[in-house]
Amino acid sequence: MLTEKGMIEHTPEENELIEQIRILVREEIVPVRAELDAKNEYPHKVFEKFKEAGLFASLYKEEYGGVFISALSNIIICEELSYGCLGITTAFFASKLGAMPIEFGATEKQKQKWIPPLASGEKIAAFALTEPNAGSDVPALSTVAVKKGDRYVINGTKQWISNGGEADFYTTFCLTDKSKGPRGISCLIIEKGTPGLSFGKKEDKLGIRCSATCQVIYEDCEVPEENLIGGKENQGFLHALQTLNASRPVVASCGVGLGQAALDSAIQYARERKQFGVKISSFQAIQHMLAEMAMKIEASRLMTYQAAYKIINNAKDRAKYSAMAKCMSSDYAMSIVTDALQIHGGYGYTKEYPIEKYFRDAKILQIYEGTSQIQKNEIAAGLIKEAASSKKL
Ligand SMILES: Cc1cc2nc3c(=O)[nH]c(=O)nc-3n(C[C@H](O)[C@H](O)[C@H](O)COP(=O)(O)OP(=O)(O)OC[C@H]3O[C@@H](n4cnc5c(N)ncnc54)[C@H](O)[C@@H]3O)c2cc1C
Repeated sequence: MLTEKGMIEHTPEENELIEQIRILVREEIVPVRAELDAKNEYPHKVFEKFKEAGLFASLYKEEYGGVFISALSNIIICEELSYGCLGITTAFFASKLGAMPIEFGATEKQKQKWIPPLASGEKIAAFALTEPNAGSDVPALSTVAVKKGDRYVINGTKQWISNGGEADFYTTFCLTDKSKGPRGISCLIIEKGTPGLSFGKKEDKLGIRCSATCQVIYEDCEVPEENLIGGKENQGFLHALQTLNASRPVVASCGVGLGQAALDSAIQYARERKQFGVKISSFQAIQHMLAEMAMKIEASRLMTYQAAYKIINNAKDRAKYSAMAKCMSSDYAMSIVTDALQIHGGYGYTKEYPIEKYFRDAKILQIYEGTSQIQKNEIAAGLIKEAASSKKL
């Protein structure tokens, strides 16, 4: 938890969770991550271990088959998992991302139907918002859902969908009323196997290679009206915003975990590598890089918990804090892996050390769930809005 003084103090239950995940990272992730990365292979076997450990359950409320450990479980789990592999963390959390529009907007009956299989790990979800011509510009999306009797017919293409092809269902954002722009967007649940639903080729990515990413294609894809989240049309944009506000601090926690892994790796290397007859850790230039990295990690961690705290408490300025944490932690993570690789010299540029993978993986943090530029737009919008209603000046 984050105390009133802004300190992070974990409860005994949170510490137990951290310990449990560190064991999983050591025993189940680190030994396989390079191979999964090289083969572009989805982490099915690792997810079996997560299921046994109840890790999927810890992301959901008890009334839907989950196990409550902490309101900060998402943050804690994703920071620790990212220490091991950001690709596995992305695949794991993409399922929760697919569940969030249901958690925020669905009817009780829908929640009871769709969430328990995610909590048990029996099913995986995906969040399908981005399109080939609607990335940062979300309101430009053009996938349509047309009501025909008691069914919706969906046509369109979604781009860059994490867990694409692997997920059992896709929370898909579609236009139900074109005339209303973003206020005419609804979210529908589309199950894998539905006629008309198909997938593009698996993307051959720079990093997070074991997480599946592909196009999701809808061609006269019909679903029953019960699959409309919340049972009311044109609520989808709100559910998308709620989801992104809540998930951006989790992306920030991934930057913290990955950054910490890179720093630890750099320290270890600097203590072993000798040049000019001494360990390179004795050079002030190296020490300063390590110090900068450590400061960035601590600052990002505090900002992440602060943003999570704002989300949990439904604070008015939560969107601004969520964007600040995501942007700061992602940009710092990229700078940390760059310096950590520099400390490894030529060896860092090869697959002999994990830093090469950390470097490739980190870049995605500045892109998905809204680029760093979009986060800054969000932060500035928050600041300007606050200034307009402030009595300070
Ligand atoms: C590996 C991966 C996984 C993903 N997973 C998912 C997923 O599961 N579900 C999903 O829906 N989406 C997913 N995405 C999509 C991701 O959220 C988008 O890629 C991202 O929002 C950026 O959109 P874009 O790629 O179209 O870039 P663009 O929007 O085309 O942006 C290109 C550049 O222009 C800049 N730019 C654009 N608009 C502005 C502006 N107004 N001001 C300043 N700069 C701007 C951007 O910052 C960027 O640098 C994923 C993407 C990747 C690569």
